[in-house]
Amino acid sequence: MTDVREIVEKIQGISNTDKTLVQKACTFAANVHKDHKRSTGEPYFNHLYETAKTLAELGMGPVTISAGFLHDSIEDVNVAPETIEKEFGSEIRFLVEGVTKLGKLHYTGARRYTENLRKLFVATSKDVRVLIIKLADRLQNMQTLSLLSKDKRDRIALETIEIYAPLAYRLGIRKINRELEDLAFPFVYPKEYEKVKKLLKQKSRDNFRHLEKFHKAVKRNLARDGITNIQTGFRIKGLYSLYRKLKRKEWDIDKIFDISALRIIVSSVEDCYRVLGSLHRVWRPLPGRIKDYVAMPKPNNYRGIHTTVFTGDGGILEVQIRTEEMHRKTEYGMHFEYKETAGLPRKAIASLSWVKRFFPSFILGNKDIHDRETSTIPDWIKTLGEYNQNTTANDSFVDDLKTDFFNDRVFVFTPQGDVIDLPTGSSAIDFAYAIHSDIGDRMSGVRINGKLVTLESVLENGDIVEIITRPTARPTPKWLDFAKTIIAKKHIRSALEKRKLGTWTNNPAQQH
Ligand code: MN
Repeated sequence: MTDVREIVEKIQGISNTDKTLVQKACTFAANVHKDHKRSTGEPYFNHLYETAKTLAELGMGPVTISAGFLHDSIEDVNVAPETIEKEFGSEIRFLVEGVTKLGKLHYTGARRYTENLRKLFVATSKDVRVLIIKLADRLQNMQTLSLLSKDKRDRIALETIEIYAPLAYRLGIRKINRELEDLAFPFVYPKEYEKVKKLLKQKSRDNFRHLEKFHKAVKRNLARDGITNIQTGFRIKGLYSLYRKLKRKEWDIDKIFDISALRIIVSSVEDCYRVLGSLHRVWRPLPGRIKDYVAMPKPNNYRGIHTTVFTGDGGILEVQIRTEEMHRKTEYGMHFEYKETAGLPRKAIASLSWVKRFFPSFILGNKDIHDRETSTIPDWIKTLGEYNQNTTANDSFVDDLKTDFFNDRVFVFTPQGDVIDLPTGSSAIDFAYAIHSDIGDRMSGVRINGKLVTLESVLENGDIVEIITRPTARPTPKWLDFAKTIIAKKHIRSALEKRKLGTWTNNPAQQH
């Protein structure tokens, strides 16, 4: 087990120095955790090995994988952070300390839980790899969850479904997102889990018959159109994802068309559209269900074309068309592009440029050069890290996170066509602050889909929102009632505060 061959062969183009680093971390971990067992009696090292392996599968580099091996060494077996730095360098120390929970004496109960979470986000806002290690760690813990006591199990499962699974989704790591959700689902909502399972069982028998027949017909049809360089397969919707959709559709499973889908993987973007054309020529598409996420990727960077067609024998099925590259990115996130080399820490972090693609460039601002390192961190992660809770009740941090980051989102547009995603129920005020605090602070009116409406208007999916500003406009306390996001509330409070103190200025250039 202390052989890292299986792990390093997943890293493309790895150098011998990097192989040595990963091997050293593995041996070190096996050593310091030698007498450390899980509650089942299984060697603790297995957990570390599996965590490191997941990181390699996600395409992370040798530094992150090494930190994966070491991630519990400070907390569980009292290795000094200085020792990790001496043996592996300051970058790996930073990553391991970022994943390590707070010292044992600081807080208790809910307060402790909240503080741990906050510490994780602060570290993540400096280096997103901390979160990726935490997700790999959590996935492994979830796979062995049934071995824990009921209390512990339920708490971990709940935290997973409310916080870690949505974080994986927002990072675009669909594979981990789905696995975390489906592992946690039966523990968090046992009754609902049974209900969904039963519904799915009845439905999938019919479904599968259609799918098989349709699959063959599609392949024949594509071959006739000269499209042969493809891979096809089925994907079955995750149970938790199905549960969420059932709730939205009054538990009517017949209203859900993507329980199973035919997936067609092609070799180029042009072929995506050729396949779509070839399909629609034979099978009539369901109106309103053609989604071109190739031309317009989702905010978490998902790309692919979806269509739902009548199969001709009474069935309705979804087809998903993607290139191989899109497929890999959807399952594993952007991280496989990640190049890190031991000994070049800062450069490695700066190369996290893929994170920028999470958000339209104007949201991240033009901070480049001077602030290059932190500007590669998505804003939503920065907000998590900066979120300051001095006066509010203990658990409001977690509640805010839930409503702000992890609930269902609406996708709305700027007049230029950039996508902004906000929690459902957000108002034009949230939109304005999501673009820039100056725009929020000076908002005097709003047009939604070309019509002038009130500032507190709630946004709907697909709305085109245009904010009208005036230099003398100011937030009023009433705005707090209509703001849903942490970022908007934070800016409104600080603007109101400034006004009270008389430091408000009408010159945007002087605002920071
Ligand atoms: Mn762990």
